[in-house]
Amino acid sequence: MEPNSQMTPEQAQAMQEKVKNMSPEELKEFQKQQCIFCHIAEGKMQAKKVYEDDKVIAVLDINPANAGHILLLPKEHYAIMPLMPDDLISYISMVAKALSNAMLKALKVEGTNIFIANGMSAGQKAQHFMMHIIPRNKNDNLPLTVPKMAVSKPDMEKLKEIVTKKVNEIFGIKEEKPKKAEDKEKEKKEEKKPKKTKQKIVDAEFKEIEKKIKKKSTAKKSKKKKEEEEASLDDITNVLNNL
Ligand SMILES: [Zn+2]
Repeated sequence: MEPNSQMTPEQAQAMQEKVKNMSPEELKEFQKQQCIFCHIAEGKMQAKKVYEDDKVIAVLDINPANAGHILLLPKEHYAIMPLMPDDLISYISMVAKALSNAMLKALKVEGTNIFIANGMSAGQKAQHFMMHIIPRNKNDNLPLTVPKMAVSKPDMEKLKEIVTKKVNEIFGIKEEKPKKAEDKEKEKKEEKKPKKTKQKIVDAEFKEIEKKIKKKSTAKKSKKKKEEEEASLDDITNVLNNL
């Protein structure tokens, strides 16, 4: 997969020196020459192509995690996700959705995992951005589960603060200035009374709606066939076939 892996240390050093002195344009061209996925995108290298347009190409992974594993990549060389233009990320996500739907229907699988390895620490091996679309079935036993880690409440609060601050910065959202403790107390007292009344009204309305829904669903249920009731909600394939 990596063209550099067969170099001697001396060759690698010489290559590093060469790269250091390149202009950004030369560097991009050099990356393209070294990148196996650029070769695939340009049709210079054979691949089991399942989709192609002017912006993206999708091929079957030669080392699939599961049968039918698709690699979807932009034709232009971008090493990591932060370098991808927003409109291209939108576009490639739309194609990923279509490929995932095609996979559910054509391969009759029950689900798909769609993921991006963004950076070496995240398991990115190729130096070309790509999305993995992996077909899944209930009992395929792929080690693609997300573990659950215990994080303390204060740490969670800190994480929330740090991340929100940066996200707001990125989206240009102005943050509310932290209020003084006494002001907060005042606000709490003022808010309490009207909130209660409002909540009561909302609760009453909600109960009314709930009643209506119950009435409707019991009416509907009695009409439904037994087998329809037994259908599993998470059966994506069934849902899609009924669209
Ligand atoms: Zn590339």
